[in-house]
Amino acid sequence: MFEDGRSFLFKIQEGKLQTHNGVINLSDITGKSYGSSCQTHTGKRFYIMKPRLVDEIYRMKRQTQIVYPKDIGYILLMLDVHEGMKIIDAGVGSGAMCAALARAVGETGKIYAYEKREDFKKLAEENLTKWGLISRVEIKLRDISQGFDETADAIFLDVPDPWNYIRQCYEALVGSGNLAIVSPTTNQVQLVLEEISKFPFVGVEVWESLFRQYKTVPSRLRPFDRMVAHTTYMIFARKVVNDWRD
Ligand code: SAH
Repeated sequence: MFEDGRSFLFKIQEGKLQTHNGVINLSDITGKSYGSSCQTHTGKRFYIMKPRLVDEIYRMKRQTQIVYPKDIGYILLMLDVHEGMKIIDAGVGSGAMCAALARAVGETGKIYAYEKREDFKKLAEENLTKWGLISRVEIKLRDISQGFDETADAIFLDVPDPWNYIRQCYEALVGSGNLAIVSPTTNQVQLVLEEISKFPFVGVEVWESLFRQYKTVPSRLRPFDRMVAHTTYMIFARKVVNDWRD
């Protein structure tokens, strides 16, 4: 990473890396610790930083839409994800959300991921393997209309027609378990809300998060001109049992 924040994500090996600030000889990096630096051929300092999961997610190989980091953070808290939890993730897609879940549940937790397309299952497996998280994840090649095999503490649902799987989610959740659904259009959210209202769920909430990055020039502190104005809506609900409908 350069001082200006421009960064490059790569495996250290032999060879050269061409950057906007000159060429880096990769053998100059070998054996150096994180936080230290080397110089490009033009004398610019290049810092060797440990990649964060967020860096990996922004650059990951993706063939599907992914959940964006700004939304991932809130979903992790609303699902109350913590060490040791068992979570269902459907569909797994490219595996961005799955990676965040897998990291948060720790060594003792487990993610049961469902995906109906073999090519996406393979891609998610590749990504999760690269990030060292695959041992916490079991990916099943399955259409979720057939339901889930497990009981889960929380469920994350990211498919184009989530309203069709509310019953399956309800059945798989433990009492008081949290459900999070992402959908990009209000039309989809409406259908989800109508379906959720037929089941014993409480605490139903719909959110969107607006995120604006600022330029870090102290004397001209202001937002960037452009922003990602829309990613997805987030719908949350909590399962209850034996409610008044019984
Ligand atoms: N959350 C993922 C992106 C999911 S994209 C991420 O962060 O990377 C939606 C995925 O759901 C696609 O891969 C699609 O193949 C899968 N999908 C759609 N309908 C499904 C179904 N009925 N059963 C299982 N997977 C499904």
